[in-house]
Order: sequence, then structure tokens, then C-alpha cells
Amino acid sequence: MMRRIAALLLPVVFVLFSAGCAPDDFKDSTHMVTFFAMNTYVTVRPSDVMRDGEAVSPDVMDTLLTECRALVTEIENTLSATLPESDTGRFNRSAEGITDASPLFAELLSRSLTISEATGGAFSPTLQTLTALWNVTGGGYVPTDAQLKEALSHTDPAAVTVTGNAVYKTDAALMVDFGAIGKGYAAERMIEYLRDAGLQAGLVSLGGNVGAFQSPTDLDAFTVGITDPADTSALIGNLALKNGYVSVSGDYERYFEAGGEIYHHIFDPSTGMPADSDLRCAVVIAQDGALADALSTALFVMGEEQALAFYDSGIYDFHAILVTADGRILVTSGIAGAFEQTGGGYELTLHGQ
Ligand code: ADP
Ligand code: MG
Repeated sequence: MMRRIAALLLPVVFVLFSAGCAPDDFKDSTHMVTFFAMNTYVTVRPSDVMRDGEAVSPDVMDTLLTECRALVTEIENTLSATLPESDTGRFNRSAEGITDASPLFAELLSRSLTISEATGGAFSPTLQTLTALWNVTGGGYVPTDAQLKEALSHTDPAAVTVTGNAVYKTDAALMVDFGAIGKGYAAERMIEYLRDAGLQAGLVSLGGNVGAFQSPTDLDAFTVGITDPADTSALIGNLALKNGYVSVSGDYERYFEAGGEIYHHIFDPSTGMPADSDLRCAVVIAQDGALADALSTALFVMGEEQALAFYDSGIYDFHAILVTADGRILVTSGIAGAFEQTGGGYELTLHGQ
């Protein structure tokens, strides 16, 4: 029998339902947890059926949900820039780096440095001096030119090297920030865990990051609703997702207002300012959760033209949906069949053959 899987309505990416069931049907489900971690709401929704068709016992379900939560806690305790004893905290305070980083920290930093290079620096894991200065999540502060220049002078990813569990920096003031990749990474780790546990399907969501898997794949696809940047209570459309990760980065997610100006949380690493993008949001769909997260941030920073050129370069395998500030939706052709526009009055164009 086919089971329906669904998740909570979430502020950034709405995850809807595969077979028309209403939110009330699963709101009180015990097969789902939602908790706050990594600065966002995390929802874990494992299928209650195993691959072989057996029902998942309540004990096993409890263990699965507990383990997923423990995974996110471990990732947060390792990567958080605000927890002093995290690897990030220790590395950021150190003068030359740390030699006892956890494999998680070393691996994700290494992946981050590779993506940073591939995106021409649009994604950068070494922006913590800027993130701390602007303090968007803590209420916001508009820095002076001198402060901005000083913070920006300590953000060169080339100052960092990873060798096994040793992570070195040649600039003592440089600090790392996994804000644009950590949640996608956590999605990936939870999905891998649930898949390895032998379930037939699972769905996780962390703020603007969604991960899903299904096996067998003849189940209905999950429906991921994409928020309208111009009206965050509405959707621009739905994306059908069976296996993979969706990540959204937009200027409407976190921001503050000062002197009549809006300052959002995605920085252009070349200026240190909130990226002056001609996009309102960038959605990336990929088979790698950390990559999807990092690339959604990178494409937003790049803007329409560069983002499409980056896509065309074929350096990474991904699909994208870009919403421009002038009211268009660009969908890369490989994902067009999975995206259904539902509202917002945008003009939709396909990119690629
Ligand atoms: P969200 O965290 O809202 O899902 P993103 O994935 O786009 O959004 O990540 C934005 C966060 O990443 C910021 O809050 C900041 O900590 C960090 N950040 C900002 N600009 C960049 C950038 N260009 N490259 C990498 N990280 C960034
Ligand atoms: Mg991101």
C-alpha cells in the first residue's frame, strides 16, 4: 500500500503533500519531529514503512527521530560560529588554526573551499568577520567604511588549508562561517541516515533546505512549494521531488532595515556588502545537499547573467530556478517538467535546450 508522506508548512520552502492530504491529517503525527536548531526549524519526516513493506515499529521510529536530532545537534555543535567550543569557534579564535579538527569540520571546510573556487568566490566559507560585523540575525548594524574594509581584509579563502584533521590559516583574524552550507549538509546527513536505516522514503527540511529520498521510486513525488519572494505567504509554484535536495536563498529570508534601507544577509564577498543582486531568490536542485545549499547562495550573489553562465559551464550537475527582481522566473530545462507555476504573475522562461 502506498503511504503518504508530508511535512509541516514552513516559512521559506513550503513542503506540501504528495496525494492531496491536508495539513491537519499529519499535524499530530508521531512520525515526525520539528525542533529548532542551526538557527532554523528542522523537520524530519520518515516514512512509516520499510523498503520491504514492513511497518516501522514504534521503537525503531523513536530511534530514527532521536538519531536525526542527535545528528543535527552534533553538526551544530561542531560548525556553529557562536558556540565557543565548536571547531569553528576554536579555529576562529586561534592564531594559526587547529590540528585536532573533527573529520566533519575538516571535510566540510575542504568541500567549501572547492566550491568557493569553482564559484569564483561568490560562495565563500571565510566571511565570518563580515557576518559578525553586519550581525543581521542579531538585529543588524550598518558598518562604517573603515570597519567594512577591515573586516573584508580578513576574508580570503586562500589563507586556509586543510590537511587531514589539521586546518591552518595564514591570517590570524580570518574566521569561517558555514551559514550558507551547514543546513544543506545536515539535510544530506539525515537523508543518508534514514535511507541506510532501510526506510522506503523520507523527507527533511531545515529552513530553506529540503532533502528527500524514495525507494522504490514508484511512490508519488513530494511536493516542495517555492515561496513568492514578493509575498512570502504565497507560492510561485510547486516542485516535484523524489530524490535529492532543494535549497533556496533569497533576500527576503533574513534582513534588517536601517535609515530606510533594507540590508539582507547574503553578502557579496568582493564588496562586503549585502549582494546587490538582480535576483530575489535562487533555488538549486542537486543530488548533493551541501552543494545545493552553497550554490543557491552563490547564484544569488552572481545575479542572473553570471548564474546562467555558471550553469552553462557545466562545472556542477544541478538544476536551478531563478526569480528575478523584474518579475521573471527562469527555469533550467532539465527540471522544467517537475516545476509547476501556480501564482505570482511571473513570466516563466526556460533556460537551456
Ligand atoms: P539561509 O541561511 O537563510 O538559508 P543562505 O544559505 O544563503 O541562507 O546562507 C546565508 C548565510 O551564509 C548568511 O547568514 C551568512 O552567515 C553566510 N553568508 C552570507 N553571504 C555568503 C556568501 N557569499 N558565501 C557564503 N556564505 C555567506
Ligand atoms: Mg545556502
